[in-house]
Amino acid sequence: MSFFDSFTMTIGGKAVSSSETIDVINPATEEIVAKAPDCSEKQLDDAVAAARAAFPGWRATPIEERRRAVARIGEVLTEHQADFARLFTLEQGRPLDGAAQEIAFAAYWANEVSKQDIPVTVTEDSASKRSETRHVPLGVVAGIVPWNFPVNLAVWKIAPALLTGNTLVLKPSPFTPLTMLKLAELLREHLPPGVFNVISGGDRLGPWLTAHEGIDKISFTGSTATGKRVMETASKGLKRVTLELGGNDAAIVMPDVALDEVADKLFFSAFANSGQICIATKRMYVHEDVYDKVADALVARARAAKVGDGLDQGSNFGPIQNRPQFERVKNLIEDAKQQGLRFLAGGDVPEGTGFFVPLAIVDNPPEDSRVVQEEAFGPVLPLLKFRDIDEVVARANACEYGLGGSIWSADTEAAADIASRLETGTVWINDTLYIMPWTPFAGHKQSGIGVENGKEGLLEFTVPQTITIAK
Ligand code: NAD
Repeated sequence: MSFFDSFTMTIGGKAVSSSETIDVINPATEEIVAKAPDCSEKQLDDAVAAARAAFPGWRATPIEERRRAVARIGEVLTEHQADFARLFTLEQGRPLDGAAQEIAFAAYWANEVSKQDIPVTVTEDSASKRSETRHVPLGVVAGIVPWNFPVNLAVWKIAPALLTGNTLVLKPSPFTPLTMLKLAELLREHLPPGVFNVISGGDRLGPWLTAHEGIDKISFTGSTATGKRVMETASKGLKRVTLELGGNDAAIVMPDVALDEVADKLFFSAFANSGQICIATKRMYVHEDVYDKVADALVARARAAKVGDGLDQGSNFGPIQNRPQFERVKNLIEDAKQQGLRFLAGGDVPEGTGFFVPLAIVDNPPEDSRVVQEEAFGPVLPLLKFRDIDEVVARANACEYGLGGSIWSADTEAAADIASRLETGTVWINDTLYIMPWTPFAGHKQSGIGVENGKEGLLEFTVPQTITIAK
């Protein structure tokens, strides 16, 4: 059976198909790439039951064996990298090079997580008592991921959940389920049955999964609106939650910016993956002294960029991943035009097949315009002028989100000072989109609850257990 034409769920280590299916659409051609199973309620029960049954054995499995299993995830991704990348481009839209990078990075990620330690802390060792705190697994984790980084964001959940001794039911986005269905298929022979289950389905599956009584923790990445629904549902069973949600990251470009050195990074901070990144620059505040220079540099790059089918050599940027998101981005552009805002690049979305949006830059829109206030999650960047540091910090922070941000300046010390005033979980200085397995990634405000990655992220898949011995 080819890598590309047969997709089954993995439940209890077995291939499971479904009488109903969902169409997975190539966003460049709008053709059906494949049909994925539409998990029934009974099959969800089976997946949770399989994960529950596997839990006691997996938590008792020596950590070295669990490390090997997590590393194996990386090896499987690497062994099939070219096929995974092609499948990724077909369902997600991103050009092949970027797709291959995500597969390679996810493999690297799994391998790094496999080496992380689960700490044991002696909290008292006195004449009368010895207390030791360990971190034990929670049970069955539900992992829910979006469509913008369908492999990497899934590995952020799979690797730490399994390393810490939990079992997992993973639900990819209905728009991009294929890579995860394939990964689970390839891992069937390497993991005990039930440890890693992958189910796919339409809009009803997420609510079923989060409400399921057999789930102990939900690790969710997606929009803030959905995150709130997940938390509400989770409250009924007091399930643990980690929520990685939306962002409206500000970049602050200072008058002393070394533009020649950072122009490419600045550009990619906003437009990589066609702007469909939670930590993309979604508002760029540029000091008035360098506004025109920065605008010219970005506009030149936006106009030179080729937006096209990710399978075509030469496409730098792919389509928007799905039709609803395409409509949202088009609506935001239309609204900006109706407000009389000026586009320095882009602004016209061509009719035709595929969800293609030319990279767009909006010239100094009012702070309260939708294009500034809303998370575009597409290639539409508002470029905003500022004069004063206090003013720009206040504008950057006047936002319900608090995911990331960046400062661009030759004076990195002064930039670090400004960084510490931003109400966000991550701030880069003269850099962008740098996240590593050892870096805690957390949203402030409505960008999330809890942490992924780093020691803090690993421990979110555990609960402390303190054992005290009276001497
Ligand atoms: P989404 O919230 O629509 O969907 C995310 C996932 O949740 C999908 O798998 C979806 O099927 C599922 N889902 C939908 N309704 C559900 C419900 N009621 N209960 C349980 N699950 C449900 O988000 P999206 O459109 O797929 O992704 C884009 C959003 O994700 C953006 O807001 C972006 O900023 C955010 N995001 C955040 C991060 C982060 O780490 N903070 C990373 C990537 C994307």
